[in-house]
Amino acid sequence: LPLAKASTSLSLSLQAKMSRPVQARRLEGIDKNIWVEFVKLAATYSTVDLGQGFPNFPPPDFLKEAFARALGGENHALHQYTRAFGHPPLVKILAQFFGKLFGRELDPMTDVMVTVGAYQALFCCFQAFVDEGDEVIVIEPFFDCYETMVKMAGGTPVFVPLRPKAPKDGKLMSSADWQLDLAELASKFNKRTKAIVLNSPNNPLGKVTPLAVLGLIADLCVKHDILCISDEVYEWLVYDGKEHIRIASLQGMWDRTVTIGSAGKTFSATGWKVGWAMGPNRLLQHLRTVHQNSVYHCATAAQEAVAQGFQREFALYGKPDSYFVQLPKQLQQKRDRLVQSLDAAGMKPVVPEGTYFLVADISAFKSDVPDVPNSDEPYSARFAKWMVKNKGLAAIPLSAFCCEAHRSNYNHLIRFCFAKEEATLKTANDILQKWKQEKTSP
Ligand code: PMP
Repeated sequence: LPLAKASTSLSLSLQAKMSRPVQARRLEGIDKNIWVEFVKLAATYSTVDLGQGFPNFPPPDFLKEAFARALGGENHALHQYTRAFGHPPLVKILAQFFGKLFGRELDPMTDVMVTVGAYQALFCCFQAFVDEGDEVIVIEPFFDCYETMVKMAGGTPVFVPLRPKAPKDGKLMSSADWQLDLAELASKFNKRTKAIVLNSPNNPLGKVTPLAVLGLIADLCVKHDILCISDEVYEWLVYDGKEHIRIASLQGMWDRTVTIGSAGKTFSATGWKVGWAMGPNRLLQHLRTVHQNSVYHCATAAQEAVAQGFQREFALYGKPDSYFVQLPKQLQQKRDRLVQSLDAAGMKPVVPEGTYFLVADISAFKSDVPDVPNSDEPYSARFAKWMVKNKGLAAIPLSAFCCEAHRSNYNHLIRFCFAKEEATLKTANDILQKWKQEKTSP
């Protein structure tokens, strides 16, 4: 009898196996992600990881100390839930700090929301604003999640590429040589357009959008009554005396813009996952609905430490001791170091005006990694895989930052992150110069 019982339950459990499709329609076509593969490859093979965008140097001491105080201090409330839309000390200082930069008073309770990294701020925007059938304009190459997040919300991303112009003779290309065709951009605005995503400084090129272009984009937004989602996570990482301009500070834009920032990029602490969205209450109220019904809030102690970091920076704004002054200075040197290494090796860099990324042209290395005609895999991905496996150098192919239809335009490009210790950049240089020697010696 027990045997019969066992066999009945076995057959029931076999029948109980699910056979119906489980995946929600909104995930169709977005379930493969290049980061999973490339982060794993870097962990397995790389000697030098210049792939994923994070510093391998520590955040500033004042920030680490603030986190340690938050964890070890007497205020036990910092271990518990805080206000859902942002820990009060953090939203207050963010409102004060950025209010000054936007030239307007921000209400910390309604005009600022703290998120789990800039990533979640983006997610909240797309979920809050994009309906089935809506179009969202995305400038290419772009931070990859814009495309998938628009699609997940039921919208259609519409891509407008930055187009490279040849640099002057003998000069290296700059991210400033990649430009929008403004007539092409204007042609993409129509009745279905709900929003445009801006990312200046831009990942992966490091392009800083100049004021004149921001002004024209603003005019288009106002003319067509379009929202602007402005991802400004690299706002402090701008080089060569260039200036970061916040599009929400241009005429007519505050009312229609959500500006997104990240403590991860601002304070070199990407693992803390503290980000924020700022804008008028009429927009942020909808972000709060998504946030309240998804993650609820971001880690309290991390928010407390970031609040203290901003309080320090508020007092030091523009002064030589400010981290926001020091960090770009250090990163500009690192940029120049990697530019030099790549240029000397014959892997032509596009010199970035901002961010901690730079894109390089791999055309001269094609003989090492022959193309496979009609392969499904984009060439830049094949190349980056080969490079990490054979040279121990990890980078990200530009195929990660463009739509499928435009992949062939980016096949000769890969992205490096230069927010790395001197020793790491030196090892990268050693690898590149040795590689060049091997190529040139008979
Ligand atoms: N936007 C851009 C352009 C980024 O490059 C990144 C991180 N790579 C993010 C947003 C996400 O930032 P966070 O780590 O704060 O979620």
